[in-house]
Amino acid sequence: MSYVGPDFDPPQPRRSRRGPLTVAIAALVPGALAGWLVWQAVGSDSGDGGGSDKAGSGASSSAPGSSSAPGSSSASATASAKDDGKASASTSPNPTVSSSGPAASGPLKGKVVVIDPGHNSGNFQHTSEISRKVDIGTNWKECDTTGTSTNAGYTEAQFTLNVARRVRTLLQQKGATVKFTQDGDRAWGPCVDERAKIGDKAHADAVVSIHADGSAAGNRGFHVILPGSVHAGIADTRAIVAPSRDLGERIAGLFVRETGSAPSNYIGDGTGLVVRKDLGGLNLSTVPKVFIECGNMRDSKDAALLTSGAWRQKAARGISEGIVSFLRG
Ligand SMILES: [Zn+2]
Repeated sequence: MSYVGPDFDPPQPRRSRRGPLTVAIAALVPGALAGWLVWQAVGSDSGDGGGSDKAGSGASSSAPGSSSAPGSSSASATASAKDDGKASASTSPNPTVSSSGPAASGPLKGKVVVIDPGHNSGNFQHTSEISRKVDIGTNWKECDTTGTSTNAGYTEAQFTLNVARRVRTLLQQKGATVKFTQDGDRAWGPCVDERAKIGDKAHADAVVSIHADGSAAGNRGFHVILPGSVHAGIADTRAIVAPSRDLGERIAGLFVRETGSAPSNYIGDGTGLVVRKDLGGLNLSTVPKVFIECGNMRDSKDAALLTSGAWRQKAARGISEGIVSFLRG
């Protein structure tokens, strides 16, 4: 989740309609339309508005990483990310903010992408450090938050780092230089202002912050958060609003195509897109940046997806393909 605390923005009233508007958004990315039509054709169990089934008794309780493999089309990416963020500090030889792996050749050679795995598994043990307020231009906000989890205890921080590593592998295969804001290699954080600065200092061509939401059961689907136009204090997003929207629309469209997931049924009016001006990670960015909330960890059906390694690989493909589309123009 991208917010916790007193300045929590109440979710918009839940909307069930998402047909025409969603198709319109998908059409913005031609390649996504086919995926969306497939999704419509095969139907989805997301439209029942249920939310009555209790999590913890079904697939959502499966152990992290236990369900990867069949259905994943990239064995190497799956393998590289299947540790679910645990014990990575001892296995990763690379400092967080330097690129890992040799810069390959490929269509994205020379492009720099910063991936921001939301939260940090260590935040739960460092509540005083992460509650320190930092300047986000419009106001002061907590350095970082713990994030949410499924009802069975699979944390958002585990999820974000796992998906981020899969995205990194896919982008590196295209030749991109990929940097992380954290790679499970620090005790907590970084703070949201530092997360933004890492993208800025890298002169990143694109930055994506990966999250999963913690909303009410029955609320389902993904949404991409775009920076609003903010010019206040140290924040000035005016130059990144347009390119960030382009990046976000491409990711939304390709996320639909790759995962078959529907855009959020509780925020964004079925478009899968929402604009916010209250996130430090966006307010302080000087390079194109979006957040993606990949699903709702508190909904049992979404949780069953989020805890599936095969689904996370699809999610990573959607995100990486969206970035590739944006960078190639
Ligand atoms: Zn989050």
